[in-house]
Amino acid sequence: MNYNKLADMLFPNVTNTPEFYEAKFVERKLPNNAEVTRMAPSPTGFIHLGNLYSALADERIAHKNGGVFYLRIEDTDEKRKVDGAVELIIDTLRYFDIEFDEGAGFDENEQTNAYGPYFQRQRVDIYHAYAKNLVAKGLAYPCFCTEEELDSVRKEQEEQKELTGYYGKYAVCRNLTIEEIEANLLAGKSYVLRLRSQGSPEKEITFVDAIKGEIKLPENIHDIVLLKRDGIPTYHFAHAIDDHLMRTTVVVRGGEWLASAPIHYELFHLLGFKMPKYAHTAHLMKIDEETGGKRKLSKRKDPELSLDYYKKDGYHPYCMKVYLMTLLNSNFEEWHEKFADKDINEFPFSIDKMNQSGALFDKDKLHNICKNELSKLSENEVYDFLYQWASDYEPENKDIWFADKEKMLRILRLYMGVGMKRRRKDLVYAKQIFELFSYFFDGSKTDEKDSFKLDMDEVHAILTKYLESYNHADDNSAWFNKLKEIADSLGYASDMKAYKASPENFKGNVSDVAEVIRIAVTGRANTPDLWTIVHIMGEAQMRERIETVL
Ligand code: GLU
Repeated sequence: MNYNKLADMLFPNVTNTPEFYEAKFVERKLPNNAEVTRMAPSPTGFIHLGNLYSALADERIAHKNGGVFYLRIEDTDEKRKVDGAVELIIDTLRYFDIEFDEGAGFDENEQTNAYGPYFQRQRVDIYHAYAKNLVAKGLAYPCFCTEEELDSVRKEQEEQKELTGYYGKYAVCRNLTIEEIEANLLAGKSYVLRLRSQGSPEKEITFVDAIKGEIKLPENIHDIVLLKRDGIPTYHFAHAIDDHLMRTTVVVRGGEWLASAPIHYELFHLLGFKMPKYAHTAHLMKIDEETGGKRKLSKRKDPELSLDYYKKDGYHPYCMKVYLMTLLNSNFEEWHEKFADKDINEFPFSIDKMNQSGALFDKDKLHNICKNELSKLSENEVYDFLYQWASDYEPENKDIWFADKEKMLRILRLYMGVGMKRRRKDLVYAKQIFELFSYFFDGSKTDEKDSFKLDMDEVHAILTKYLESYNHADDNSAWFNKLKEIADSLGYASDMKAYKASPENFKGNVSDVAEVIRIAVTGRANTPDLWTIVHIMGEAQMRERIETVL
């Protein structure tokens, strides 16, 4: 068959050749050991923790040796495309402080975006140049089979317990003559472009996955689709061409792609491209609350899989990074403890220390990391972070919470224990943080109140005496001495030793008295130092709250 003629018949308008693109997208000039990595999400409107997990790995692999990390949008699947999804991807990665060097989201005209376009739908000409070349070499052909025909072959294969797919004797369009093809084209029949696979079922491919080690898989024998009926490439074809022309050196991608590696292996070889290194990541797992067993995080069952979840609740991006680093490299945690002051980017990230099977996601651990990391930030850093989060997610409350900057800083100081021997570690994520001290603010949405444990007559007596004796000028110990006096006068022990020796002689002790005041003032049975709270609040607000209870 005259394949050149076929190529011209199928792609009459394609004049660019692979050589043209090879010359246009030259090898990158990078230092030795520098890797080029990419994140290549599909704009489906859902961006999840697994994406951030591999994005962070990509970013570290590239940046630890002066390489390049770029963002490519794989928008070939029209059905799964969602409006606003690209912005969501870019905003979310920006929120989590994932730093790209080029790609989608950057100015197209800039020097930095020399390997674009980075949206696959804008690269159709490039794919067609390579497709035409494969046809001319007899390595690709049009297939006119209809969906119904393909379905019925699949059913037959299933009945015969044969491998399903388009290969061998089932690949009927493989042997069409040029006249038959021409007639089909003239009749206006739609077609897909298929690879003429050179694989053999008896042979295996072997390659080293950077995470999973040596992998042996049977060669690809399927005449897979390269271009769909509308001329848009499949993931397989676009992956080979893009990662080659964008000069990717390490492809970090979900483990679900490992089974397709033989297809990619064959495509890279037939296209004459050098293979990138592959790194197939482990799934994120969790302990199932019902069964106690490990299972994959699921979009349907686990809201915490979505990155939106962390943004909405206001997890500090740095804490997320630290946590994901502990999942990515098992030796990170020890390093981070040892070099607590070092930037985490100095950690010697190593791709072969990445989790091979499931990486276990543990929310309690994430929370502990948040508490720890937030306690290392300055008040101003925490203030700015909370301000930004409240502006985005609580715009109405924001004005109330941040009306008085000094007040907010004093609250943060109280909850972070700045200057204390051991810093408090109460703060986890923005939403929880505001719930923790929302009682300081009248008018912001109020939360559940703790109820008094003593009966209301006692509460009344304690609060009345408290207001009578209150002097805003008292220091912490003078203030506390007055609580002790109130305790004594109402039959509560002011001396804990005496109380412990014979509790039956007392109604309770001074901490019960303090608790009544605490609940009346803050609505909470547990708070940091009450004297400090009252002094941040001011006398008027304190009195008003107690009057309300009375
Ligand atoms: N678009 C593919 C996905 O979202 C990318 C896989 C890859 O990184 O190559 O799964």
